[in-house]
Amino acid sequence: MKPVLYFLIIISIIIPSLVFGDGVTAIRVYFDTPDIRQACYDLNLRPLTEDIGIYGDFIASDKDIDFLESIQARYEILPEHLLPVITEIAIDSIYHTYEETVFELFAYASYYPTIARVESIGVSQQEQRTIYAFKVSDNVQVDEDEPVVYFDGTHHACEVMGLEICMALIDTLLENYGLDSNITYLVDSTEIWIVPLVNPDGHSAVIDSISLFWRKNGRDLNGNDTLYEYECNDWWTCYTEGVDLNRNYDWYWEYGGSPNPWSYYYRGESPGSEAENQGLTSLLERIKPLLSLSYHSYGEVIYCPWLLMGNYAPDHAALYNIAQELASSIMRENGHETYGVSFAQGRSGMASNWQYGHLGSFCYLPETVKYPDFIIPPDRYFNVIRENLNGCFYLLERAHGTQLTGIVSSPETGQPVQAEIRILEVYSDILDPRISNNTYGRYRWLLLPGTYTLQVLSEDFIDVTFSDINVRDNGITVFDVDLYTYVVGDANGDRELNGNDVTFLIIYFKGFGSPPEPLLAGDANGNCRLTGSDVSYLVAYFKGGPPPIYGDCW
Ligand SMILES: [Zn+2]
Repeated sequence: MKPVLYFLIIISIIIPSLVFGDGVTAIRVYFDTPDIRQACYDLNLRPLTEDIGIYGDFIASDKDIDFLESIQARYEILPEHLLPVITEIAIDSIYHTYEETVFELFAYASYYPTIARVESIGVSQQEQRTIYAFKVSDNVQVDEDEPVVYFDGTHHACEVMGLEICMALIDTLLENYGLDSNITYLVDSTEIWIVPLVNPDGHSAVIDSISLFWRKNGRDLNGNDTLYEYECNDWWTCYTEGVDLNRNYDWYWEYGGSPNPWSYYYRGESPGSEAENQGLTSLLERIKPLLSLSYHSYGEVIYCPWLLMGNYAPDHAALYNIAQELASSIMRENGHETYGVSFAQGRSGMASNWQYGHLGSFCYLPETVKYPDFIIPPDRYFNVIRENLNGCFYLLERAHGTQLTGIVSSPETGQPVQAEIRILEVYSDILDPRISNNTYGRYRWLLLPGTYTLQVLSEDFIDVTFSDINVRDNGITVFDVDLYTYVVGDANGDRELNGNDVTFLIIYFKGFGSPPEPLLAGDANGNCRLTGSDVSYLVAYFKGGPPPIYGDCW
């Protein structure tokens, strides 16, 4: 029998009319100078876009526009349909409450115990609601040697479609497993992790109608035990309590968001100060996604890492290629264009920056739902979900597409090795080191087809570099790496191969010197024995013969 998923609470919420007033226009102002940007905020214009780009969209009156013209600000009038919806919309009970979300996750896990598992990753900062991660994969209790793809929703409370898309993805994967061959393949061959509701406190404030535009978490900033205080509650840029969870990550934290606690994008007291972020980062450091999506609203655009002080990301070519393919798999609500691609500001404690910069995960931020809406009626709801599931499946398939991957191990110990992996053509020390997996020694690096140089570094082993690795199109290129504690042929242990090694071996064989350390360092011909033929082999090598070879001696 299938589990019956009850809606525990039937909700019906009316979106209030927005009080933007008559005679207003949506405008895009280009921040050609810092003064122009400042003027927009000094005028107290209602922002339509986050302050992360080279322009800002605002609601402005004729008087505001006159002023902007007087200071020679460059601006354009946006189409009228970009003004926020003013009609009243009843929220359908299709939207999940926190309680329904938790109930469904546990119901799924108990009905599909072999491919689904639910796990607590911590509690929310203010009201201690448990935050859940959900895993879908075969052998679901085991961390298998498979690419990890991660999805999360609703860092920002009113951006409710992230939660809804994540729940629909879980449902689609589980319901079709064993029936749809592609979904079965993806579940069997991928470690799929989903955190549907990152910000349960803020989301409850939205669903409980405290504010339909609540954005941040529930932190009681002034400590007066009155939660969810606000100066206005009819737009997401209103001054409110709480911390912006998507500015709280430990990645150039001090450059992103706002230090002003009541600002809509207050970054918190310190990097990773919020319990929600701590729960997520400890999960992500454990599972290290290859690819990831962190859902937001609105705008129908995919934010790609990154523009950091004017520079694209080290992996820009592959990152941008995947962003474009992802975006083109998702149709906008107008039915004839697909999502756009834009670049996130790299110096900011956003989830996508932290995941890419710290973990090397290709993390994208889809802004779902058409500009400038958050909560949408059922017909649009199902359309947005259907289109975004196309994006989810594109990403799951891409995890098995063009990449370089392999296992780093030590033949001497027979164990996998955690080593730093560099692909020199796309390497930069701006990013934290990428380390092969501690259980399997696995590394994976998404690339475009081409020729690459792989470097593997470890404190316990000799570093190695392999050039001219040909990464092929449309599939996985496998390149396993063996690490040794010695250089074969380097009999005297100075990490260089030259005539001194020949001399060292001759002295040893004459009985006057010590043996190579380890002995196999002298086994130049790789036959697992140290004899005079190794001396001949080395001499031949210096005269142009084949290089020393590691024997298969363990
Ligand atoms: Zn957002």
